[in-house]
This record gives sequence, C-alpha cells and structure tokens, in this order.
Amino acid sequence: MQRTRVVILGAGVAGAAAAYGLARRGIHDVCILERDPFPGQHASGRNASLIRRNLKTETDCRLALEAADWFRRPPRDFPAEVGWRTTGSLFTYRMPELPQVEQDLERQRRAGLPFERIAPREAVRLQPLLSPEAFDEAQWTPDDGCIEIVELLRGFLTFAVERGAQLRCGTAAQRLLVEGDRCVGVQTEAGPIRAEWVMNAAGAWANGLVAGAAESLPMTPCRRTMLVTEDVRADSTKPFTWDDGLGFYFRPDHGALLWSPCDEVPSESCDESVDPAWVERARARARRLIPSAAGLRLEYQWGCLRTLSIDREMFVGPDPTLPGLFWVAGLGGHGVTHSPRIADLVGDLFLEGTSRVVEPRLVAPRRSAAP
Ligand SMILES: Cc1cc2nc3c(=O)[nH]c(=O)nc-3n(C[C@H](O)[C@H](O)[C@H](O)COP(=O)(O)OP(=O)(O)OC[C@H]3O[C@@H](n4cnc5c(N)ncnc54)[C@H](O)[C@@H]3O)c2cc1C
Repeated sequence: MQRTRVVILGAGVAGAAAAYGLARRGIHDVCILERDPFPGQHASGRNASLIRRNLKTETDCRLALEAADWFRRPPRDFPAEVGWRTTGSLFTYRMPELPQVEQDLERQRRAGLPFERIAPREAVRLQPLLSPEAFDEAQWTPDDGCIEIVELLRGFLTFAVERGAQLRCGTAAQRLLVEGDRCVGVQTEAGPIRAEWVMNAAGAWANGLVAGAAESLPMTPCRRTMLVTEDVRADSTKPFTWDDGLGFYFRPDHGALLWSPCDEVPSESCDESVDPAWVERARARARRLIPSAAGLRLEYQWGCLRTLSIDREMFVGPDPTLPGLFWVAGLGGHGVTHSPRIADLVGDLFLEGTSRVVEPRLVAPRRSAAP
C-alpha cells in the first residue's frame, strides 16, 4: 500500500498551490491525485485569468493586492513565466448603483487599493469599445492585469514535483479512509493510499468526496459561462471591463474578445454544460455596453464551476470534526488571484497552526464551530 505524509485530492489551482506551499516549507512527502489525465481541466484551466483586486471584502482585496505583487515579481526560483500583463481594469456603473458602489470603494480604499473614479468619456478613451451612454461613471484601477493560468499551474506543480512530490494524473480518489475518529488516507481507483493528512482540494467535487466520513461544507458549485468571439485584432493592452449591475464582463483575448454574462447558477450535479439562454443574455448585455462588438460571431463557449461558500470566503484549514482532513476548497471567483497567498496560508497552517496571511478563523472550515 502506498504511504505518504500528505495526499492532495485535485490538481487544480487549489491543490497545486497547496503542494507549492508545502514544498516551499520543506514538506516533500506529498502525493497529488488528479482524476483527469492532465491538471487544470476544470475551473483552474478555463477561467478568465483576471487578476482583479477591487473585491468585495477588505480581506479579499488585501489578499489580491499582495498576490498581484507576487504575480508581477514571482520568486526567482519559480519554474514558470506567469505572464503578468498590466492592462488595468474598468468597473462601470450607473447612479442608482452608487450607494453600494461607494461602500465597496471605501472598503477597497481601506485595503490600500489605488484607483480613480472617472467619467464615461475618459473610460471610452481607455477602452474604445465602450458605449458612453451605458454607464454614468467608472472605477479605473490602472495596475490590474491578467496572467497565463496554464503557466501558473505548471509552475506550482513543477516546483513541488522537482522537490519530491508525486503527481498522479488519471487517478480518482473515491472516498476517505477513516479509522476510529481519524482520517488515515484515501481509497482510489488504483488502491488505498495511507496518509497522515488528506488535503481536499477537489473544487466542485470536494463535498462529494467526504460523504460518509464528514459533514459537507456550506458551499455550492455555480456555473459560469464564458464566450470567445471571432478574431477582431482586439488590442490586448486594453483594460478588462466589468459591469456588476448589468452582469457582464469582457477582455481582449489573443485578438478576440472573451465575454461572460456573470451567471451564477447553482449546479449541485456539477454539470458544466452551456445553457443557450445565458449566451443570449450575454449578447443582449454586450449590445448595451459594447454595441459595436455585440454582433460578433461566437467561436467558442464553455461553462465551468465556481464553488461559492455561503459567506464567499474560502475554506482553508484542518477540519475540527475529523482529524487528518484538511480543506483547500470553496475558492469562489478569485481562486487564481488568491493562489500565491493560499500557498503561504496552507504552509503556515500546516506547520504552525496559525498564519499572518489571513486570520485563520475567517477561512476555517466549519467557522461557526471555530473559536
Ligand atoms: C468561468 C470562470 C471564470 C473565472 N475567472 C476567474 C478570474 O478571472 N480570476 C480568478 O482569480 N479566478 C477566476 N475564477 C475562479 C477560479 O478559476 C477558481 O477559484 C479556481 O480555479 C478553483 O480551483 P480549484 O482547484 O478549487 O478547482 P478546480 O480547478 O475545479 O480543480 C479541482 C480539481 O479536482 C479534480 N478532482 C475532482 N474530483 C476528483 C477526485 N475524485 N479525485 C482526484 N481529483 C479530483 C478535478 O479534476 C480538478 O482538476 C473563475 C472561475 C470560473 C469557473
């Protein structure tokens, strides 16, 4: 029977960042199990790659600021080019939305985010596709950007594997192994693996994996649709643009435009298929915000799952109800952005039981039970 100190379930950005965080702290007796033939076939490989820092809570905003610094200057020994591109971001809104927007801006200011409030004319100068009639004001955050997510994932995993971790793709975990009151490993399709710790980083499938061994956590996989238009030689230096009130964002993507209608449809069955109604909604919203581009042919589309916790914060830490089980799940809509800080958080919590990255009780699994 295979034995290891830590077995990580899932090689998305959660599992990969956890492996990287452990490797940085000298923990190399690690086995990463991935069900698919390759890592990053779900949320972590099919997201929008935006490093957006104007987030809704002060904690998320601060983590995103710190992570963006990491993306701009990854450690010298990081074995991949994460491809940081400063594009800036625009958030557009209308006057009736202002009371909520001002609360968000105040939180972001407290977290230290540098931004400006600009008029539609100025926003159109930055992103000429925008219709100035569609909004009354915009938040301009000049230092936001995008990365190459495949490279980020590759870097995390390579760093861990080069130091001794084992990456087993094409091997699905089936259930946790429990002896007495402790989790002692995992049953896989290819036999049992005994481990001191099981790190559950299986994204939308994380709750399903603990069935029968522990209570699930309050998080729900929610589908989001992404659409890629035909190539229009879109300028990739232009900012990504988000409109919360309208429910639409877009960014230039290798000459095309990447659109999303910001859907958030609960999908307990982990169904990633595209609903044509959301494609139509995306087009209708594009017609308002970027009318000159709304008629573009859509070349690709996909659905993918963001796993949202009940309070929108991630779950990172040991499970107080089942010793030996550690969660890195519920990363929501900012898992890529937060990943370098998640790596540090996992390393800290694993070795020291506490962390300065974020107050551990804010991200503790079963938070209501946390001290
Ligand atoms: C459409 C979309 C757009 C997004 N845009 C952004 C963005 O612009 N910026 C940002 O920061 N974040 C974004 N996100 C969020 C980000 O992608 C997620 O927070 C993050 O990728 C979640 O990573 P994960 O590893 O938890 O999940 P996943 O990437 O889903 O990884 C889970 C892994 O576990 C594996 N697995 C499942 N079951 C088993 C099993 N039984 N045994 C072994 N392995 C198993 C899966 O195959 C998968 O590889 C977006 C998400 C979506 C869906």
